[in-house]
Amino acid sequence: MSTHQATAPRHLPFSLKDFLASFALTELFKGMAITGKYAFKRAITIQFPEEKTPLSPRFRGLHALRRYENGEERCIACKLCEAVCPAVAITIESDQRADGTRRTTRYDIDLTKCIFCGFCEESCPVDSIVETHILEYHGEKQGDLYFTKEMLLAVGDRYEAEIAERKAADARYR
Ligand code: SF4
Ligand code: SF4
Repeated sequence: MSTHQATAPRHLPFSLKDFLASFALTELFKGMAITGKYAFKRAITIQFPEEKTPLSPRFRGLHALRRYENGEERCIACKLCEAVCPAVAITIESDQRADGTRRTTRYDIDLTKCIFCGFCEESCPVDSIVETHILEYHGEKQGDLYFTKEMLLAVGDRYEAEIAERKAADARYR
């Protein structure tokens, strides 16, 4: 058996075409052409946070618990949101009130677990738990993003007008 084996043709790293193109500055002119093409178009970058892009009514930001106009909590402690939450971020405890209705005694959301999927909002039969348009919030230490019922109701109370407006804007698509 012959020990001679055909060898693959060797390609030199040098390209005459690229070498000549480097003298003609073609890459530079191509780059300048792209810059010139976009120089007079409308800018698509914005100066956040002074400038903001529009948000969809379905934007899923910070959670809130809502009340009815008479101040009564909407939540009826059915626990559907807790059951559907894929991140196990919601913890609910409930009890029966003197008037026979059931209400939560504890409603916590751990936002460090939450993946903002929106399932809690979708599952709620009384539009109680919602994800608002609020996206500018943060925590500085452990526990800051653990929202209790009081905190969630406070968000709902403060932003009810915007929440209701966004719900109404989205209603016709449901
Ligand atoms: S948005 Fe999704 S992950 Fe977050 S609390 Fe609701 S159901 Fe759970
Ligand atoms: S927020 Fe809605 S889904 Fe969750 S327990 Fe209350 S009523 Fe049920």
